[in-house]
Amino acid sequence: MGLIEQLAAIVGAGNVLTAADDMAPHLVDWRRRYHGAARCVVRPASTEEVSAVVRICAQAGVAMVPQGGNTSHCGASIPDLSGEAVLISLSRLNKIRALDVANNTITVDAGCVLQTIQDAAFEAGRLFPLSLAAEGSCQIGGNLSTNAGGVQVLRYGNTRELTLGLEVVLPSGDVWTGLRGLRKDNTGYDLKQLFIGAEGTLGIITAAVMKLFPLPQATATAWLAIQSPQVAVDLLGHMQAAFGATLTACELVSDISLGMVLKHIHGAQAPLASSPWYLLVELSGASEEGAMHIALESFLEESLENASITDAVLAQSVEQARRLWALRENISEAQKVEGFSIKHDISVPVSRIGEFVERADAALLQAFPGIRIVTFGHVGDGNLHYNQSKPASGENAVFIDSQARVNELVHDIVHSLGGSISAEHGIGQLKRDELLRYKSALEMDMMRTVKRAFDPLGLMNPGKVL
Ligand SMILES: Cc1cc2nc3c(=O)[nH]c(=O)nc-3n(C[C@H](O)[C@H](O)[C@H](O)COP(=O)(O)OP(=O)(O)OC[C@H]3O[C@@H](n4cnc5c(N)ncnc54)[C@H](O)[C@@H]3O)c2cc1C
Repeated sequence: MGLIEQLAAIVGAGNVLTAADDMAPHLVDWRRRYHGAARCVVRPASTEEVSAVVRICAQAGVAMVPQGGNTSHCGASIPDLSGEAVLISLSRLNKIRALDVANNTITVDAGCVLQTIQDAAFEAGRLFPLSLAAEGSCQIGGNLSTNAGGVQVLRYGNTRELTLGLEVVLPSGDVWTGLRGLRKDNTGYDLKQLFIGAEGTLGIITAAVMKLFPLPQATATAWLAIQSPQVAVDLLGHMQAAFGATLTACELVSDISLGMVLKHIHGAQAPLASSPWYLLVELSGASEEGAMHIALESFLEESLENASITDAVLAQSVEQARRLWALRENISEAQKVEGFSIKHDISVPVSRIGEFVERADAALLQAFPGIRIVTFGHVGDGNLHYNQSKPASGENAVFIDSQARVNELVHDIVHSLGGSISAEHGIGQLKRDELLRYKSALEMDMMRTVKRAFDPLGLMNPGKVL
């Protein structure tokens, strides 16, 4: 029996896709930057089926590429063009396995769409706080494998901090069951941490136990006009002092970013007169709604008086808050319409955000006159999406040629500030070679040792990360 027939015997012929049209959506990434080829796309529906599929591929020495919602910004879930790999889609592993209200945990299959988990938690009167603009299509297995961040990291932490247990199919096909819902477990190496953020290079995550939180009783959302990223950092400090853990989100948006949303996203409206920068702020917690609004309102009044902000709007309804959030969440979508973009997902110590933007903007504008710098992101986490679009009258092809130089210029500044070239999107294919420039030989060596220990044949998502 050939490989395709063996796989079909495990998952059913209808779940082994070989026709070009059927495979096509799996073989191009969200940004349409990476195209790949595969022997087939296989869609197992249970951990046992994933295990059997992996065992067959391993025995045949065939590379495997796990894929969740395929929303990666780094080409991490797209195979190379050799057509040798089997793409393993986790979409049919989509059940909520258990929800323990008293333990504040939810146990989910890896292919559950993030929004489905948020909804299930909400129905049980709990919050699953991982939240990002791709939540309607990304899957928890992908979130775990990229250690996704999103807009509530400030309060709840990133995916790693929300994870209590994992179930993983190892590159041999063996199943590691580490689905423990424990907040304390010091029994040796914390193995789940190795698979979180590994981008599918060490094994396939098939299930997870995730933390839940009480649902916030009240939320207050405001859009602030400010003069610079440094002002955002200063305000962040003041708000942390004033509001403590109720400060849930603090998102920076440049005027160029907002301009693209207003231009390309249907129904988007500017909340305030134009300003160089904006801050989207959200408080949420257990206090009474009215009290939270009053607290934020008086903070905004004070900030207007001392001129740290120049204008502000406080959402008066859930719908108004949703519209403010849509302005922030549609930036990636809007920038996509503007043509080719060069993306940087960087982090620096929060205290150095202002310095980073000043230095990187000046260096880019000098080297590439007319380049449009689209800066937005999670200022509370020191994480900016620092993206470039071609000059308005420029050609895509010319701009693409400048990518390596733009990356080097930005990443060298990030590195000099003690930052990271990938804060939340991962490495994938996009930054694999860049990684060598910024990690020490020893660190790369330790990573390769881990990879060899789990995947000695190098079959699990080859060419990604390392
Ligand atoms: C509009 C938009 C907004 C975004 N905003 C954010 C944001 O705010 N924060 C953020 O962190 N990211 C963001 N992203 C990036 C992306 O959504 C995240 O990286 C997400 O976690 C990827 O999930 P996915 O299911 O789509 O994974 P995929 O893209 O399918 O895969 C990502 C990586 O995980 C691996 N993988 C997937 N499933 C498994 C599994 N079960 N086991 C092992 N490996 C697996 C893949 O091989 C690949 O290496 C955004 C993307 C878009 C399109």
